[in-house]
Amino acid sequence: MIISPVFAGKRYAILGLARSGMAVLESLHASGAKLLAWDNREELRESVADKAHIADPLKSDLTGYEAIVVSPGVPLNSHPIAQKAKAEGVPLIGDIELFAQARPALPSHRVVGITGTNGKSTTTALIHHILASAGVPTVMSGNIGVPVLSQEPLPDGGAYVLELSSYQIDLTNSLDCDVALLLNISPDHLDRYDGFDSYAASKARLFDMMGTDHTAIFASNDEKSRLALHGLCDLGRVQNIVDTSSVEISGQPDWPSLQGPHNLQNAVAAIATVEALGITEAQWRSALATFSGLPHRMERVAEFHGVLFVNDSKATNPASTGPALGAYPKIHWILGGLPKSDNLTECEPFYKNVVRAYTIGEAGPLFGKLLADHVPVESCEMMLTAVQRAASYARPGEVVLLSPACASFDQFRDFEARGNCFRSAVNSVIERDLTGTASGEVQR
Ligand code: ADP
Repeated sequence: MIISPVFAGKRYAILGLARSGMAVLESLHASGAKLLAWDNREELRESVADKAHIADPLKSDLTGYEAIVVSPGVPLNSHPIAQKAKAEGVPLIGDIELFAQARPALPSHRVVGITGTNGKSTTTALIHHILASAGVPTVMSGNIGVPVLSQEPLPDGGAYVLELSSYQIDLTNSLDCDVALLLNISPDHLDRYDGFDSYAASKARLFDMMGTDHTAIFASNDEKSRLALHGLCDLGRVQNIVDTSSVEISGQPDWPSLQGPHNLQNAVAAIATVEALGITEAQWRSALATFSGLPHRMERVAEFHGVLFVNDSKATNPASTGPALGAYPKIHWILGGLPKSDNLTECEPFYKNVVRAYTIGEAGPLFGKLLADHVPVESCEMMLTAVQRAASYARPGEVVLLSPACASFDQFRDFEARGNCFRSAVNSVIERDLTGTASGEVQR
């Protein structure tokens, strides 16, 4: 666990005792801080009663408190804690800010911060993999894996590779990344912001916090990324600014888990990042070839009768599905779920790769209409039906791709449950083909 003398004797209120909240509580307690903690769930409150005073910060006098630490799940634009913090002049922060404050007490290290609308987890895992393959002590954390304060401090020369959502950046004031990377910005999470501009501004704050001699990397030429890049160049404060949006690097066919134009963007950005940390081309090339990817992101789940089945359930908006369609020339595309917009604009350039589309979930009728003039489309409603239909049409050399361009909550608990359902459906179709019988219900 990461602890720090800077927290000793200070008072903190912690709101939310899920994973990162618990990590905060343990770290602050072990550092000698005085704590007030709260969660709506009684069992969580009870589990920390020996380490914190249990009270609702909304109903407590927080005068003299160092900070209120909230989980990134708390919507700052509507939750009353934001008003309360402002009224009482207490900073509202998250676990990443506490990590930033704990850094001076850690062995000498570097921090990489990765943000963007799409591709954060993939790129974080890739950077982590390249550094680990090159023998650099490293952990990946932030919005992925184990919370950063629960990590063991890295030895001298280590690198903390942090995936940072805009919610986490909103709760951070002093994280000076050695390398800060912005992958891309497209409209998402707009329920939590006053529009697209303020969502984009939230991501750009990562660069406001960094030191002048550190490296800022911009990977995409979308409008908001360009604005952030030009804004930073105009300020003239940060000296090393790298624009990888039009950098071309050969070798992608040798990187099986990094297919598609989006993954090329991620790979190029990751390469610029690790090069800024001193990794050589020979080191990153061998690591790109051995990267195994993450579940539910362009994950190859099976190959049967020459047909490849790919699970990209994490593609929850059209901007992330578009490039997935660019990854293969002949695709049977399963899409749908809870729509985030009334169009598929970012997917349109790739319709030429779609042999046939199969819609599921609430967005089915809408997507059916949008696609009707461009590709053959079937309304399947359920995942198993969609996989069965796609498998029956797909020919050797073609790909059955789940890349839904939608949230999953109309039919599934989350994108993982949706991806697992796809995998079960694929297995059941394969089994059925092998045995010549129906293999029973698919679990959801
Ligand atoms: P995040 O952590 O930002 O949600 P992930 O790495 O989990 O990103 O990928 C989410 C989805 O976005 C994946 O399903 C993938 O198809 C897509 N994706 C990955 N990288 C990019 C990118 N650079 N641009 C657009 N979409 C991407």
